[in-house]
Amino acid sequence: MTATPAWPPQSAPRLHVETQLGEGIAVPVDGNPAHYLISVMRVKPDDIVLLFDGRSGEWAARARDIRKRDLVLECVAQTKPPEQVPDFWLCCAPIRKGRIDLIAEKACELGVAKLQPVLTRRAVVDKLNLDRLHAHLVEAAEQCGRTALPDLGGMMKLDALLKDWPAGRHLFFADESGGAALDSTLRAHPGPAAFLVGPEGGFDPQERDAIRATPGAVPVSLGPRILRGETAAIAGMAVWMAEAGDWLDAD
Ligand code: SAM
Repeated sequence: MTATPAWPPQSAPRLHVETQLGEGIAVPVDGNPAHYLISVMRVKPDDIVLLFDGRSGEWAARARDIRKRDLVLECVAQTKPPEQVPDFWLCCAPIRKGRIDLIAEKACELGVAKLQPVLTRRAVVDKLNLDRLHAHLVEAAEQCGRTALPDLGGMMKLDALLKDWPAGRHLFFADESGGAALDSTLRAHPGPAAFLVGPEGGFDPQERDAIRATPGAVPVSLGPRILRGETAAIAGMAVWMAEAGDWLDAD
């Protein structure tokens, strides 16, 4: 007996688009995404490409009108409903290019709802290329099967972030000077949350006091060693997802 081929095909390329998707919607594609589909993935007429727009779930679309530099993808069926990620933000100080890109990629893969860059006094980097970070989020979402990108906040000073901290959202603060063990603390503080990680130089004492004084703040330790910012961010996101996020059983 021959096996029925999977539909949509598992090898179908995935692409984030801005056009709102729906039954019969034709999405014109040009530029780099078209180059990727036509020249790299060798998409042929009637081949399936998976699309997501951040609002409408994931759609299987059929390729047509393939030319040298553009093509049209016509939505034929919804393959995933819009995704609900856990209400968890990553607030992190900007760190060097490459390392902050890695944080963006991992935040998207691990299912954070929002990535909020936070400027602190000891930050070595004080500017961020948000377009480049957005491109990393798109690429990670295309690869990992997310149907919506994390929100990407503009750079915010730490005091502004703390001043307007939303009531009811826990602020788990990665404090290299010590705090509660992360896993048991997370279980004791269910609900909307954020994880705050400092820059290469750490938080200064005044910042640490201000964070601790913010309603909802919970200082947490990530163990006895000093981790790089990106290691701390990735470890914190993974532990939160395992203890309080969508790594848990559905029941
Ligand atoms: N310059 C700081 C020092 O020597 O103490 C180290 C800063 S560390 C490279 C960057 C950030 O990662 C810290 O601000 C903190 O948020 C987080 N971090 C690193 N290790 C940690 C730990 N063991 N526990 C909690 N947070 C940690």
